[in-house]
Amino acid sequence: MIYIGNHLSSTAGFLAMGKAATKLGGDTFAFFTRNPRGGKAKEIVKSDADALMEYLSENKFGPLVAHAPYTMNLCSDKPDIRKFARDMLVDDMERMEYVPGNLYNFHPGSHVGQGVETASDYIVEALDEALTPGMHTTVLLETMAGKGSEVGRNFEELAAIRARVRCPEHLGVCLDTCHVWDGGYDISDIDSVLDEFDRVIGLEHLKAIHMNDSMNVIGAHKDRHEKIGEGCIGSEILKSVVRCPRLQGLPFILETPNDDEGYTREIALIRGWMK
Ligand code: FE
Ligand code: FE
Ligand code: ZN
Repeated sequence: MIYIGNHLSSTAGFLAMGKAATKLGGDTFAFFTRNPRGGKAKEIVKSDADALMEYLSENKFGPLVAHAPYTMNLCSDKPDIRKFARDMLVDDMERMEYVPGNLYNFHPGSHVGQGVETASDYIVEALDEALTPGMHTTVLLETMAGKGSEVGRNFEELAAIRARVRCPEHLGVCLDTCHVWDGGYDISDIDSVLDEFDRVIGLEHLKAIHMNDSMNVIGAHKDRHEKIGEGCIGSEILKSVVRCPRLQGLPFILETPNDDEGYTREIALIRGWMK
């Protein structure tokens, strides 16, 4: 089995997200650690975080997959933007300690013309500040579609970052089906894509799946998510991903353009695909 859920709003607090996930049929979920456009985060109420932790274990949830703000660019060419992103990452690591044992996903960033090597140096520097031996969160680099100057357009770019951080045991990868498809990986043969992942990164470092269809053809480098079964990837391929024996036990997060009703339907659809 896999865990399945979708991205939820965090405005009503932690326990409310757990209950909202259950209502939609999920047993995991994603949430933004702060306003997706960045800025100062809301104060965490410890009793609310504790209540969620209890709720998750009582209801046998899989690991949660928190998402960093989209604007967090650790490898910007502007020092003030890099500093802002780094401070946000460090602060988020402290916040994640309120819900220990979960995952925190982020986009490596855009190098905006400096080249991927310079960008990776900045990303590694930031991770070395944020990742500490005693932490209880696993941080995930997300596979990207390769839109513009995005870092993480292939497995090699993510592996190069993992290889250089001081605490690689706290750094894994989240595979986004829309992004790898747009990046040119043919997931109609999921096994060979995972062989490639294993060879380059190591399959044991794959900790979560972002489950999306794509509005665009393979290799388009566009990153436009579509509802499950309504895009260019399609149900048959996505079903083979859900059923892939090597992905069992992972949290799958829907980031499809849906309302609650749509997510309820997609979660039920995917549960029907599980073996
Ligand atoms: Fe993402
Ligand atoms: Fe994603
Ligand atoms: Zn995307």
